[in-house]
Amino acid sequence: TYLDQIKQQDARIQAFLHVDREAALKSAKAIDDKRAAGKEVGKLAGLPVAIKDVLCTQGVRTTCASKMLENFVPPYDATVITKLKQADAVLIGKTNMDEFAMGGSTENSAFHPTRNPWDTALVPGGSSGGAAACLAAGMAPLSIGTDTGGSIRQPAAFCGVSGLKPTYGRVSRYGLVAFASSLDQVGPMGHTAEDCAILLDVIAGHDAKDSTSANLAVPKYANSIAQPLAGLKLGIVKEHFGTGLNSEIAAAVQAAVQVYESLGAKVKEISLPHSKYGIATYYIIAPSEASSNLARYDGVHYGYRCEEKTMLAELAAEKASLESKNDKEGLRKLDNSLIRLYRKSRSEGFGPEVKRRIMLGTYTLSAGYYDAYYVKALKVRRLIRGDYDAAFKDVDFIVGPTTPSPAFKLGEKTDDPLAMYLEDLYTVTTNLAGVPGMSIPCGFTTSGLPIGLQMQSQPFDEERLLRAAHIYQ
Ligand code: GLN
Repeated sequence: TYLDQIKQQDARIQAFLHVDREAALKSAKAIDDKRAAGKEVGKLAGLPVAIKDVLCTQGVRTTCASKMLENFVPPYDATVITKLKQADAVLIGKTNMDEFAMGGSTENSAFHPTRNPWDTALVPGGSSGGAAACLAAGMAPLSIGTDTGGSIRQPAAFCGVSGLKPTYGRVSRYGLVAFASSLDQVGPMGHTAEDCAILLDVIAGHDAKDSTSANLAVPKYANSIAQPLAGLKLGIVKEHFGTGLNSEIAAAVQAAVQVYESLGAKVKEISLPHSKYGIATYYIIAPSEASSNLARYDGVHYGYRCEEKTMLAELAAEKASLESKNDKEGLRKLDNSLIRLYRKSRSEGFGPEVKRRIMLGTYTLSAGYYDAYYVKALKVRRLIRGDYDAAFKDVDFIVGPTTPSPAFKLGEKTDDPLAMYLEDLYTVTTNLAGVPGMSIPCGFTTSGLPIGLQMQSQPFDEERLLRAAHIYQ
């Protein structure tokens, strides 16, 4: 059914980068046979799961929506993929995203943008735009996204689905292509909090292959999802209702909060005083880490390599011209063929947003600016975490809008990186603090676009966070 839906819908939505129909049917058949043979089947037996194309899948192309990795076929599975396979899920396809997960609209994909199923003139959000759109269009029941600064929650909000960014360390990052390692988390996406709980049950847990993964017991999220929560205390962040917030989103979020109140929750206004520095801090730390992580794509070890013949011919021509002018300085500065190869491969392999981040990050990590930018950002990050710690002394959950505005038009923000970065206003502090955050649907604008409600909780409290979301749904 889902494969047929992909056939019918995906030419229009373009949520997927690759779907191997035969492979998916074969793996579904194998699970059926296992069941028929009376063998025990896994928790996700036969359920199709779509995977953001940033997670390594053995023998299946993993591109990160980049020309750099266009033909990269990983020789191993990410831990999350291993766990899904052990649970007998059917991996139905790899979904589109912003290149290397940098962006908030899926327009930075090197291959094609994805469209929002609610209105195909609009973006699905990003960077996990394909993973959210395939759910909204009924092309998969469950998907896996990643979230470094909002990339699960913002597309979930734009597409009217649910998504959870777990606590940093809850889900293994082994086999996840790194963007900003101290912020990246893999997380579940589905229609409801219950869907997310079912997936999180499978993917969460300690992994010796990821030194930052937490060695903590994993609760049974799906089993406990319907248990009531008594004496709920919700905090509304006053900084989240300032200028820039769309009034219909503000009204929908307030209405959702009233639903909780009517069910007995206590609601309190709180402050995250350093949240106004969230965007600035994130856009120093994330590019710094990205510039370092992306240094590995040199065109030599693996990934895209420029056409060597052309490169050597260009080098020879430049050299000849400098020699004919007897330009000694120019000749001295001329890159050798190896440096040329790196430079040309990276220039051709990376898209504009990735280059922008590499340049920003290289600058903020450079000897002269390291203290002024990178170290300063780390200090502010600590203060942001402190804000959360203080807030959670008073309240169980922090509730607010996921995004300042609903889904926007394709092309609307592509020439304005700052406008695009402001999309992440309410989501980046979650990653900077390392706490879990969810987005669940909470209504529609008058023009019929989905609105997301963001809920955040204390670290490693996903169990209660999912329950709290389930109460509303
Ligand atoms: N939109 C943010 C960025 O561009 C977040 C991306 C993400 O979470 N991967 O960095």
